[in-house]
Amino acid sequence: MKRILITGAAGFLGSHLCDRFIAEGFHVIGMDNLITGDLKNIAHLFPLEHFEFHHHDVSTFVHLEGKLDYILHFASPASPIDYLKIPIETLKVGSLGTLNLLGLAKQKNSRILVASTSEVYGDPLVHPQNEEYYGNVSPIGPRGVYDEAKRFMESITMAYHRHHGLDTRIVRIFNTYGPRMRLNDGRVVPAFMGQALRGEDLTVFGDGSQTRSFCYIDDQVEGIYRLLFSDCVEPVNIGNPHETTIKEFAEEIIALTGTKQKVIYVPLPQDDPTQRQPDISKAKKLLGWEPKVNRAEGLKIVYDYFKSLSPEELQKKEH
Ligand code: NAD
Ligand code: UDP
Repeated sequence: MKRILITGAAGFLGSHLCDRFIAEGFHVIGMDNLITGDLKNIAHLFPLEHFEFHHHDVSTFVHLEGKLDYILHFASPASPIDYLKIPIETLKVGSLGTLNLLGLAKQKNSRILVASTSEVYGDPLVHPQNEEYYGNVSPIGPRGVYDEAKRFMESITMAYHRHHGLDTRIVRIFNTYGPRMRLNDGRVVPAFMGQALRGEDLTVFGDGSQTRSFCYIDDQVEGIYRLLFSDCVEPVNIGNPHETTIKEFAEEIIALTGTKQKVIYVPLPQDDPTQRQPDISKAKKLLGWEPKVNRAEGLKIVYDYFKSLSPEELQKKEH
């Protein structure tokens, strides 16, 4: 049986990856320090014989007994609110955490896939963003703690590949949404849906002309799965190219939820990227992958998930 370590297992993406690899017949070792994740996301896996969980901070030395075929390094705060609140931990997990997991991969002779991000393109001057673009990132701006940690992650991963011959993969993930996102994590999908459910106005940052392109979780997991088993060592974008302005997106959520509330405009956070849309030609060509779930369909699923949460969870606010 193949053994896979998934870091960030109790988070949004990590928990869905655990489900997928369990379903594919792997022995899954989940690792998480629960800084932004929640055990309830993987509680259903605990009774399974082929799932184990290690409560551990991967920014400190990582040790595991036995053979290890694959590593997926997904541990890292991912929401701007989270990484602005815990900037040093974010820098550490992208740098020291990645270093530790590359070291483990080298020791165990495992293939390792690391979770990078569209944020390596920063506030992009090329649109849509393809993998050849080097990006436009401020190293000292507030988002730099996340963006530069991920850029370092890519750099050290390629160095381990070139210098040690390590078998590596890099996925550049674009905005992904789905069930198990924290309602109060500040990202725009849970933020707008939480506001609609609580009967609050929807807070659009800036004038709402900035764009994003949202990918449903099942499509994202499929892309990551195909990348892991491909021979693509260079980074690959995985995301849904269907682009929208945030203002239009707020209107879409108002229509979906039927809320009587309105859009209000609040100041735009510093360095918020003005446009973002993945060029997925590489993923299409090399992985035969493209997203299948359209936004209306995906948003309906995630709205039903948020509606099913308890009133206490709905009222929990972090900002
Ligand atoms: P999340 O916050 O839901 O999950 C991250 C998980 O990592 C949490 O469970 C957290 O507790 C854990 N973690 C953080 N630091 C850790 C540490 N030092 N040791 C062990 N565990 C630690 O976020 P997510 O959306 O699931 O993102 C997962 C990964 O995907 C991240 O690496 C993120 O950068 C990347 N990513 C996500 C998106 C997206 O749209 N969701 C976009 C780009 C990149
Ligand atoms: N956003 C917004 N209102 C909110 C939360 C976010 O207008 O309550 C905007 C934010 O400024 C950004 C976009 O929505 O332009 C996506 O934000 P998110 O935090 O989800 O992801 P990221 O900025 O990392 O793409």
